[in-house]
Amino acid sequence: MSWEDKVRKVEPYVPGEQPNVKDMIKLNTNENPYPPSPKVNECIMSLDYDRMRLYPNADVMPLRKALAAYHGIDVEQIFVGVGSDDVIDMAFLTFFNSEVPVLFPDVTYSFYKVWAELYRIPYILKPLDKDMHIDPADYSGENGGVIFPNPNAPTGVLESRETVEKIIAANPDSVVMVDEAYVDFAGKDASVLPLIDKYDNLLVVRTFSKSRAMAGARIGYCMGSKKLISSLEAVKFSINSYTMNTPAIDMGVASVSDDAYFKETIEKIVNTRERLKEELKKLGFSMPDGKGNFVFAKHESAPAKEIYLALRARNIFVRFFDTPGINDRLRITVGTDEEVDKLIAALKDILEGV
Ligand code: PMP
Repeated sequence: MSWEDKVRKVEPYVPGEQPNVKDMIKLNTNENPYPPSPKVNECIMSLDYDRMRLYPNADVMPLRKALAAYHGIDVEQIFVGVGSDDVIDMAFLTFFNSEVPVLFPDVTYSFYKVWAELYRIPYILKPLDKDMHIDPADYSGENGGVIFPNPNAPTGVLESRETVEKIIAANPDSVVMVDEAYVDFAGKDASVLPLIDKYDNLLVVRTFSKSRAMAGARIGYCMGSKKLISSLEAVKFSINSYTMNTPAIDMGVASVSDDAYFKETIEKIVNTRERLKEELKKLGFSMPDGKGNFVFAKHESAPAKEIYLALRARNIFVRFFDTPGINDRLRITVGTDEEVDKLIAALKDILEGV
């Protein structure tokens, strides 16, 4: 057997592209169009470079304390990682460790499948219904674990807290992970965080990449029972003690300290999202009533790929998934009002010519 036969074969996740084009409108990776809180800028400006000699705080305590106070939970109920991708990766490795398949939707964050294959975790994809909702009945019976985003990505569809609780309650013998990457855009009753004290098998995952406008800082976290969190910590400390770098920890604390700015930018994005939906409908698009910072739109006649390429030629980047079942749609991130106006003008122009 050659060394090449011994290599782990993987099919990696393909992130949205990060083009660097002057005057581009970048609506392809669900980033926040506004900068992070000015407090984060103050933090960057006052970074002490001599501290780079020292290892960071291995248990990320300053940020865990800030988040614990913010959410009204204990520090032992929080785990922090390098973006929620790192947190979910660690959670797959920790909690999805049986011969029984884990369950997730067929249309969802495509990284779940990649982690399952990487760790050789069996999985079953559960179809969404015709309105792109999850059927809670699909997530009962023996399984190795459950994960789904709420709101889902790339659909933006939000399941009610009652629906999600049904799934958690039906699975006392497996860990249920609710990936709340976009929940801050979905209204105040959308999160199942209040249920972590009721269900010790519930893990709620969050990120600083979207609502906190800090995708570049790579900060994600999850919350759950102390038992779940200590299991995650044990696996993390078996791989890399120092996942979070010192500036990221400090910037995270700064962001959490500025709730007024956080709420203000979310409100702006939600207002623009609703306007974007209306404008797209006028142009012949339909879409689920998405609750994230993006819309998942299908045109009545023009093929999605053609629109995607025509927008791209004008330096407007949106996301097109060349995957059967969703290759008739575009996922468009909610930008600033000005960016949305330019997008709509470009679409009008393109659709006239199709
Ligand atoms: N979950 C979902 C549903 C996402 O869309 C993303 C963003 N690609 C992530 C998790 C990961 O985001 P991050 O690692 O930046 O926190």
